[in-house]
Amino acid sequence: MALIVHKYGGTSMGSTERIRNVARRVAKWHKAGHQMVVVPSAMSGETNRLLGLAKELAPAKPGKAHGRELDMLASTGEQASSALLAIALQAEGMDAVSYAGWQGPIKTNDAYTKARIESIDDARVRADLEAGKVVIVTGFQGIDGDGNITTLGRGGSDTSAVAVAAALKAAECLIYTDVDGVYTTDPRVVPEARRLLRVSFEEMLEMASMGSKVLQIRSVEFAGKYQVPLRVLSSFTPWDIDLAEEAASGTLITFEEDEQMEQAVVSGIAFNRDEAKVSVLGVPDKPGIAAQILGAVADANIEVDVIIQNLSKDGKTDFSFTVHRNDYQKTLDLLKAQVVPALGAADVVGDNRICKVSIVGIGMRSHVGVASRMFRCLSNEGINIQMISTSEIKTSVVIDEKYMELAVRALHREFDLDRTADTISA
Ligand code: ADP
Ligand code: ASP
Ligand code: MG
Repeated sequence: MALIVHKYGGTSMGSTERIRNVARRVAKWHKAGHQMVVVPSAMSGETNRLLGLAKELAPAKPGKAHGRELDMLASTGEQASSALLAIALQAEGMDAVSYAGWQGPIKTNDAYTKARIESIDDARVRADLEAGKVVIVTGFQGIDGDGNITTLGRGGSDTSAVAVAAALKAAECLIYTDVDGVYTTDPRVVPEARRLLRVSFEEMLEMASMGSKVLQIRSVEFAGKYQVPLRVLSSFTPWDIDLAEEAASGTLITFEEDEQMEQAVVSGIAFNRDEAKVSVLGVPDKPGIAAQILGAVADANIEVDVIIQNLSKDGKTDFSFTVHRNDYQKTLDLLKAQVVPALGAADVVGDNRICKVSIVGIGMRSHVGVASRMFRCLSNEGINIQMISTSEIKTSVVIDEKYMELAVRALHREFDLDRTADTISA
């Protein structure tokens, strides 16, 4: 008997019929002798619907007052789906109880719409588990120090589930979703993508941070910090399939790296359309420039990703970086108002139709020439690389957004992922 956490995403909870299926699957696990905690997302489309209503009434506004109400609003999606799941479980004859984030409580900081979990009080959940109940804990939400409801950022139910699993020292956290595991790239973009049977924790971290939204990045960080065994699997298999078969399906995120994993040069390709490029042109090339430009951006709470400073000509240089697309206009305005006059720079220009494509693999540590192979492949497709950034197990390029799918497909072929993925980490 083990303590297991299941997480079900929006599509998996998308209708009463699907919720009934989830309830039957969970009941099957419980009847097999496991203590079950379930973390559901809102029913598919619900979070977008709620946030859309808010947008109809007022454009997104920075500041705590607006953020607080957005969280008050968006959190209702998970509260509803959690109660519905408890009702469905009870209809299956199970003893089930649901808790909203504030009831646990799951304590977070007060960064509304992207709060971070600080602690979880598991006493109530443990008592219910001991009493033989299935416990449902809302995904995506918590409560701040002043008792206000917070949410954890889009896709945050993954993080709730892993954090709950960590707090309860669960034997495993199973992330049920609408694909049957982690693929070499998004199977909706590249139909030839293959499921990875195992992926190393480090690769998953890079893939999630580079844009593979199958897991929210913070959930992978949590899994790493607390060594939570994590598996991504399908919620669309028949609920009554053999439990051992189900438990071994999908993709395991593993903390052990083996030789076979290292042999694969590239394990996955991630892409991200959420960024925009900003360039400050004609900046005097002297010490402290980067600090001045990026300092002003950081002070405005804007996160910067890829950074490039060009060689200087006649004592002047161009300085470019990427930010989240939501921060694009704010960054341009800020640079024009504060940084250009202070530095005596020539101009600020930007492009919000870019994307970032990344190849990820622990094999990159031991293989040379992987990045140049990537660049050659893109050049063969006539794709211009605007920016490059690398880490030990990843190379990312910023390119024109209109070439994104072409680039991902070409790289997927170039690194033999079309054919070999299922055996990469078999
Ligand atoms: P959920 O609602 O279950 O949380 P998400 O939509 O957040 O589901 O995440 C699952 C989706 O992630 C898939 O439908 C798929 O399109 C996308 N995805 C992106 N990259 C990958 C990848 N490498 N492997 C599998 N799915 C991926
Ligand atoms: N419902 C939230 C969202 O749509 C959280 C989640 O699904 O993980 O982002
Ligand atoms: Mg998700």
